Amino acid sequence: MEYGPAPEDDKPARAWIDQRGGKFVSFINGKFVTPGDKPTWFPAENPATGEKLGQVYQSTQKDVDAAVKAARAAQENWAALPGFERAKYLYAITRLMQKHARLFAVLETLDNGKPIRESRDIDVPAATAHFHHHAGWAQIMDDEFDGYEPYGVAGQIIPWNFPLLMLAWKVAPALATGNTVVLKPAEQTNLTAQLFAEICVEAGLPKGVFNLVTGDGKVGAMIVAHDGIDKLAFTGSTDIGRLIRKESAGSGKALTLELGGKSPYIVFDDADIDSAVEGLVDAIWFNQGEVCCAGSRLLVQESIYDSFVEKLKRRMQNLRVGNPMDKCVDLGAVVDKTQLDRITKLVDKAVKDGAEIYQIKDACPTKGCFYPPTILTNVEPSDEIAQIEVFGPVLSVISFRNQQDAVAIANNTRFGLAATVWTENINMALEMAPAIKAGVVWINSSNRFYAGCGFGGYRESGYGREGGKEGLYAYLKPSYLSTLSEASPRKRGSTAAKKMDSRVRGNADAGDVALIDRTAKNYIGGKQKRPDGNYSMKIVSPSGVMVGEVGEGNRKDIRDAVEAASGAAAGWAKATPFNRGQILYYIAENLSARADEFAARIKTMTDCTPAAAKKEVELAIQRLFYYAGWTDKHDGAVHTPPLRGVTLAMNEPIGVMGLVCPDDQPFLSFISLVAPAIAMGNACVVVPSSLYPLAATDFYQVLETSDVPGGVINIVTGDRATLTKTIAEHDGVDALWYFGADDGSAFVEAASVTNLKQTWCDYGLARDWTKAAQAQGREYLRRATQVKNIWVPYGESSGGGGGY
Ligand code: NDP
Repeated sequence: MEYGPAPEDDKPARAWIDQRGGKFVSFINGKFVTPGDKPTWFPAENPATGEKLGQVYQSTQKDVDAAVKAARAAQENWAALPGFERAKYLYAITRLMQKHARLFAVLETLDNGKPIRESRDIDVPAATAHFHHHAGWAQIMDDEFDGYEPYGVAGQIIPWNFPLLMLAWKVAPALATGNTVVLKPAEQTNLTAQLFAEICVEAGLPKGVFNLVTGDGKVGAMIVAHDGIDKLAFTGSTDIGRLIRKESAGSGKALTLELGGKSPYIVFDDADIDSAVEGLVDAIWFNQGEVCCAGSRLLVQESIYDSFVEKLKRRMQNLRVGNPMDKCVDLGAVVDKTQLDRITKLVDKAVKDGAEIYQIKDACPTKGCFYPPTILTNVEPSDEIAQIEVFGPVLSVISFRNQQDAVAIANNTRFGLAATVWTENINMALEMAPAIKAGVVWINSSNRFYAGCGFGGYRESGYGREGGKEGLYAYLKPSYLSTLSEASPRKRGSTAAKKMDSRVRGNADAGDVALIDRTAKNYIGGKQKRPDGNYSMKIVSPSGVMVGEVGEGNRKDIRDAVEAASGAAAGWAKATPFNRGQILYYIAENLSARADEFAARIKTMTDCTPAAAKKEVELAIQRLFYYAGWTDKHDGAVHTPPLRGVTLAMNEPIGVMGLVCPDDQPFLSFISLVAPAIAMGNACVVVPSSLYPLAATDFYQVLETSDVPGGVINIVTGDRATLTKTIAEHDGVDALWYFGADDGSAFVEAASVTNLKQTWCDYGLARDWTKAAQAQGREYLRRATQVKNIWVPYGESSGGGGGY
């Protein structure tokens, strides 16, 4: 039986393009700009036909400046609107998007090449739902985010694979939270963003709240570098994400990155095979495979390998590739010639390296940017094709023996965006989900999205979430931050401070240091260890009295500490929250027994008053109690997306965390960072204050008597800059909190690009560690965890479970 063509009528979309003279320009302060003298244009093309749809304006620095200025001018009033007012605007946008849904869908397909079936039934409804969902958040912001405020102006850069949907994912939460926006679409796909700008006018959105700058990557770079931007949100390739992290390091701009993936699609031998095949069609061939979370690595259990691959090949034969405007087409065109060449090259190379290729013969139209659905077998997990994001309809197939094997292969990439697990054994599925390093896990389903469920990556797939309550935090900062002022450089261990504090290693009067050598060592793997370099540092009080000596740690000590932490991390993460809480209580109990001793040490070390020293220890004990209490309460959520099932949003530990502590209230700040990190199940490598480390080194004995498993807390003393550098560059460290000077913060952010570790830097702003509002709370818990969303469909009865 042959399918008859069922083409969508594109006349209304073409009329819309004609009305604009085929010109697509920036939208700034409520108006489409008229380009100045000698503007540069580049073509907008339909990748399915090569036909020119119009031309896109290459914005200039002047345009970006104007857009940022307009966004800045509008921001205060926008944020000051009552939630209900912002909600009304977002709701109006939703309704208008629904009204123009067909036009959006046709424009998207013309511009991007994706099948009309997908733009009509998936992209546009999902984008609309995103605004709908966020209208609700705008409304309840004050109740749900007390103590938080918007960053200000958000610079947003999006890719070409879901032009309208990515716009919605970026713009809706930004506007709901009171930020204003400067958005740059990808150079290949501009049309639906233009229509969206028109809708903003129609909805009466205040001028300057949403601004659009058209252009290529250079325009993106202008946004990244712009001083007037407070928050950057990027979706795209890991390479450009890395570049943006580097370029914005030290600028103080908040950053979220949604990057690439190489997501495993795991099929066990007890799976519902037909459903798993159907799910895979969606996982790898939806949107021509140009999906960041595409299930591009099929991991299939050895015992069903042959039969599964056979079925999959048969199913693939039925896919139709062709004119994306045809409603019967499954795969349309890839976005442009560059992407087509990239896919072709990667597949050719894989075949040369030994992969066996399976494609549908003569599947593609002879003209246009088409690539056939492709299965590659005889692929090893470490092969380039199984490691690199292809971003095309190309599936690599790998077999596995058992559950352990599946987890090991699934995690054997630098990415961690999504994963799918097919098995009828729910016990195994729910055991697999936490074991896989990915921000989203779909059980017996794939490519599920909903605005109420967060989406985002682990590891080099980026950080920050879009959707869900966690996605809102990406656009908010604690209000107390704007009240902090910069600490004196001496206190913050900056480069300047290091010069001023050269006395640390100089001669000082020996105060009451005992004659017997009591040089504190490092604490690694649960043991006190002499520093590798065998050097020590004198610790001198502000009044110039030498109060003790500590080991001067070096790169090797940090590497040993990271190794110990890595060894302990998995076990500690698996310990029950109750167990972790118990250990934190023990630590507090044992510290309390020695409170006077610690207070005396703090006083001698920092020259503070006895009362201040006593208070510091008391608050440290309180803080340990506080986080002991939190261990089993920072719980995550159960979402109810529109499917028969639930989505479990789990707060998981990040892994190995580096903690570089400030000099202010040195013992209290040290405890304030270590306690939330370990309470949430992370193992850590801690650098205590370089100036005042002695209370932290006394703390070893408390740890030794409190049942803390070896390697969960590792402490290395020494020069802050040297130790920070090694931690920041170490691929075994997953997150780094740096409380120090702004130059150090800039360094840390730039160095974090090696493995895209999550960083939290305070840019030299002095926190008062005695104030609970600044020094403890959910902000710390959130920074010590990452949300994994696990989608669990359920139901057996054909009546949709409605009969009882
Ligand atoms: P990019 O990561 O280059 O593009 C994403 C966005 O970033 C675009 O708007 C782009 O602008 C912009 N951009 C480019 N350079 C800079 C810069 N220096 N500073 C700021 N913004 C910049 O993806 P590509 O489109 O080039 O695709 C390349 C590969 O990336 C693909 O083959 C695919 O593998 C992967 N990719 C992954 C995506 C994901 O979601 N994981 C999405 C898109 C691509 P412009 O396009 O206008 O030049």
